[in-house]
Amino acid sequence: MKTNQTEMFIVSAPSGAGKTSLVRRAIGELKDLTVAVSHTTRAQRPAEVDGEDYHFVSRETFEEMIDSDHFLEYAEVFGNYYGTSMGAVNDALTAGQDVILEIDWQGAAQVRQKFSEVISIFILPPSRATLIERLRGRGQDSDDVIERRTAEAVLEMQQYHHADYLIINDDFDEALMELKSVVTSHRVLKSRQAHLHAGLITSLTHE
Ligand code: 5GP
Repeated sequence: MKTNQTEMFIVSAPSGAGKTSLVRRAIGELKDLTVAVSHTTRAQRPAEVDGEDYHFVSRETFEEMIDSDHFLEYAEVFGNYYGTSMGAVNDALTAGQDVILEIDWQGAAQVRQKFSEVISIFILPPSRATLIERLRGRGQDSDDVIERRTAEAVLEMQQYHHADYLIINDDFDEALMELKSVVTSHRVLKSRQAHLHAGLITSLTHE
């Protein structure tokens, strides 16, 4: 699925770490970078757009997709299914775009098992207090949902050690610069550049 010209990045974080905002900005500022739109059975939040934030589907549809092997990975998170379809990733990679999967640790483990070359990035909040404040600040979920999400966030953060890169999102601009730097540094790896610019390199290195 992955080609020599494209990279696949996993970005994981507990809810409230600011992952979605960071990924959005990075995609806006770096060319040829996109995010795979996941499918979920969770209810759509008022500010969300179907087909952009997620493909919102019923449990029945999701289970049919599992049975017909549509997913590169899927997991149950907070009692709802979330999954990345093969189509979402293939479309990006065949269009020559690097792709970010914004997925939880269970999905990340499945992808790492299938593609050892995937690069994983974990985003952490600067403190537990900030995490809780950010979960409350979203204002779209009830108190018990927030409490459950805080407990789930702790479990998610315990998985940080599987990642290749750790970004602490205290100052947003600094965290954004770090995320963009990870992507950019993988784009200039010699193995990729030598493949992409084979003609140039030949013309420069031969008499
Ligand atoms: P939220 O409901 O806040 O949008 O997302 C809840 C959690 O589900 C987050 O940890 C997010 O990373 C994870 N998630 C979102 N999409 C996917 C997906 O396609 N696969 C997996 N495994 N997790 C996902």
